[in-house]
Parts: sequence; structure tokens; C-alpha cells
Amino acid sequence: MSDTVSQPTEGEEQVQDPELMSMEDLPPEIRRACADLGWTKFTPVQARAIPAFVTGRDLMVQSKTGSGKTGAFGIPIIQMVKPEGRYVQAMVLTPTRELTLQVCKELTTLGKHRGVVPVAIYGGVGYKTQLDGLKGGAQVVVGTAGRILDHMQSGALDPSRAGILVLDEADEMLSMGFYPDMRRIKEELPRDRQTLMFSATIPPNVQSLGRGFLNDPEFISLSTDKLTVDEIENFYYITPQAEKESNLARILEAENPDSAIIFCNTKDEVRRVSAGLKRRGLDADAISGDLAQKDRERVMGRIKAGTLRFLVATDVAARGIDISDLAWVVNYSVPPAPEVYLHRTGRTGRMGKTGIAISLVSGFDIGSFDIAMKANRLNASEKELPAVDGVAARILERTEAAIERDLRELAPDERARADEFLPAAKELSASEEGCEVIAFLLHRYYQRMNAKPPPEPEIGGAADAPEPEPEPEEAPRGRPRRRSRRR
Ligand code: AMP
Repeated sequence: MSDTVSQPTEGEEQVQDPELMSMEDLPPEIRRACADLGWTKFTPVQARAIPAFVTGRDLMVQSKTGSGKTGAFGIPIIQMVKPEGRYVQAMVLTPTRELTLQVCKELTTLGKHRGVVPVAIYGGVGYKTQLDGLKGGAQVVVGTAGRILDHMQSGALDPSRAGILVLDEADEMLSMGFYPDMRRIKEELPRDRQTLMFSATIPPNVQSLGRGFLNDPEFISLSTDKLTVDEIENFYYITPQAEKESNLARILEAENPDSAIIFCNTKDEVRRVSAGLKRRGLDADAISGDLAQKDRERVMGRIKAGTLRFLVATDVAARGIDISDLAWVVNYSVPPAPEVYLHRTGRTGRMGKTGIAISLVSGFDIGSFDIAMKANRLNASEKELPAVDGVAARILERTEAAIERDLRELAPDERARADEFLPAAKELSASEEGCEVIAFLLHRYYQRMNAKPPPEPEIGGAADAPEPEPEPEEAPRGRPRRRSRRR
């Protein structure tokens, strides 16, 4: 492998292409931006896709989750648009608002030294920031289809000179829910544009749908026989449906992962599971399509910043979202389609790191779990549910260890103040009621120790997201009003 390429995740094709390009070949202002992001070498997909992208060809690029796809289209976009042209020259369409924000943030950094400015266009927030961005001459639009159509219909977004169109998570963008919007957007774009599709999964039906958008595309696949990341270990627990909630809490308490996204199939399930975990004192929060956008961004910001341990989510969080160091992905419910398993579990094991995917399988979902494993050519190992007694003992051990650690670190004057409580402690331990008080204090201690530290003032992450304007979500006058798109 060329030493110009950053370590591929296992199972990825080794890149020895004559057209391989390295970071040294980039213009200095983009190299500087890559350095700002801490990137020193291309990932395999970047090394393959960037040289092909800059030739102007249409491309279908299939590469595993977390392999650097955003850079693979972000770098050439920044390179190819003209900074002095203050009009929309490239459009990147994504299936979710969160992914829009994440991609826009990466493109903002990549374009910083070159004077290329992207604007994020997505629903659930006011129009003002987006209109200002468009009027200000943003050269790149990153957005979700519904709000982009709004801006096109009102005349605020003129796509007629957008010579580059990227469909990120292309299989989702060309799925039933988005296909009509995609066609409407395409109609307004120049015919001689360059169109590119990027996704971890590009099944044959998506390839044929994609041909309606792409012109004689080159197919670049960085996945050999497998679409999965070998760094992810797959496990499953057999559990009765009715006991899933308590068993999930037991597993989390026994195994004590640093962080996890817990995927549910419905908003209702998300609400129930997250409330159940919180009741048990675990540091959990929820995100689903019916949450207000600013709350979605706040929760997503916390899990990304590492200040929330357990995020319970519908698939709105599954696509493309990049969370460094996510330890576990849990399928509380087995996903409705086999490829969704890959997108969900791809939130962990990113950029060569290891990760664990856990599925809770009841008699009800055993069939779909088997299908997902077979379709994705995965092997999952069964795990025994932790015994109730064992979990209680481990909780106690961990709580005691944390108390002892805190005691060791106590400053002498604080220790003296704590000692003043000794007589009270002796009295409490002598009676049944007093022991109940001690048990309650231990429980509180355990809850606190489970919580991640409070959020620091964030640099980057969702904190960079445009502040939702105080105005209600209302189309400016004269603008045709569309139904808001919730996913
Ligand atoms: P993506 O697949 O685009 O979501 O990227 C996954 C992660 O890889 C992100 O955290 C990127 O910042 C990171 N990444 C992308 N390109 C590179 C690179 N060339 N070197 C190191 N990290 C990278």
C-alpha cells in the first residue's frame, strides 16, 4: 500500500491504483484545511474517489461507513468550485438534518482557506440564517430535500448553475420517501452537471434508479466482498419481548459500556426505553423525528461531545453520523431491513477503531435478525443475559470503588468535615430505617457516577449549528408553504 494513504479499515481493498492521488497533490490552502482537521493522508476511498471526481466524471462510490466519504466528495468540491463566483455551484443532498449539519461543518473547515463557503439548508429551523447564507454568495449548498425545494420555489436558491450534485447516503436519497423530491430538484439543475452518489450500500435497484440521475457513471467500490467493518463485533441476547426493557438495563449495568446508541424502530419505543433507562438512574436521552430541531441538535451535540452516555434513537440518527469513540450500538429492536443493520452498527468501529454491536432478539424478531445476518454475511455470537444477583454485586463493587477513589482524593480539610458526620453514620447503620437512608445515598451516588461530566462550552459539534432564529417556522411572505418534513 502506498504510504500516502491512511490506514484502511480491515477488509478494505488495498489501494495501488496508478491514479492514486495523495494529499501533497492538493492545492496548499486545502492541504492546510486538511491539517486543521488533523488529516495527514488520504483514506482509501479518498485516494480512489478524489482523482476520479476531479476529472468531471459521474461516479457511484460504495465504501464502508466511517471510511472518510465526506472528505472524498468534500475535498474535490472545494477544489473545483470558483471562490470568486458568489453563486451556488455545488449541491450536496443528505437524508437527515443532523447529517446536513455534520457535512456542512466539515466542508466549512475544508473551504476556509480557499474562500469557499457552504450553507446548511434544512427544516425545523427558521429561514433567516439560510437566506443570509444564500444571499451572501455561498458557493455550496448542503441540505435536505424538503427545505431545498422551499428555497428553490421562493427563488432564494437558484440551482441553475450548480454544476455538481452529490447524493450522500444515496440509497436512502433514492428510496421511496425521497425519490419524488430528488426528481424535482434534478429538473432544475443544469443538464451537463456532474452527479455523484456515495453510500455504504448501493444495491442493484439503487444502481438502476441512480442511472436516471447519473450519466455513464464509473462505479468505485472500496468494499471487496464485505460491506461491514471487521472491527465491529456482533453479539445478540435472546430475551422475551416483554422483558426487553429490564434486560437492556441489566446488560448496560453489567457490561458498563462507556457510551452507546440504542436504536428503536418507533418513536413510541424510543420514549419508553429512554424513560425506563432514566428511571433506573442511567444517563440516557432520546432523539427521534418528533423532537423539535433544536432539541435534536442539543442531544446529538451531547453524545458527540461525550457528555451523554446512552442515546436512544430512531434511525434518524443512523445515517452517516460520525461520533468518535462510540463504544456500543444496540439494536433494541431488530432493524426493519437488513441494510439498516449496517448503517446502525456503522456508528461504532469508525476509522479503524473497535466497536461492539448488540442486538436484543425476541421470538418476534428472530427471523428478521437471521435475515440481517445472512444478507450482510455477518456472524453474531450469542451472549447469556447477566444474572440479576451478579449485576447487583457489580453495581455495588463499582459504587464502592468510586467512593473509595473519591475518598483517596479528598483534601484534608474536606475529610475533616466529612468526619463530623461519623456519629450520624454510626447511628444510621444501627437501625433498619437508617440502613434505608444509606441505601438511598448509595443509589444517588451510583446515579451521579453514571452521568457523564456536564458539557463544556463546545467548540464544534452541534454547538456550531446555526442558532435557530426566534422567528416561528414560517415561510417568508409570498413563499408557497410546504408541509414540514419529519423523518
Ligand atoms: P466519514 O466517513 O466522512 O463520516 O468520516 C469518518 C471520520 O473519519 C470522520 O471523523 C472524519 O473526520 C475522519 N477522516 C476523514 N478523512 C480522514 C483522513 N484523511 N485522515 C484522518 N481522518 C479522516
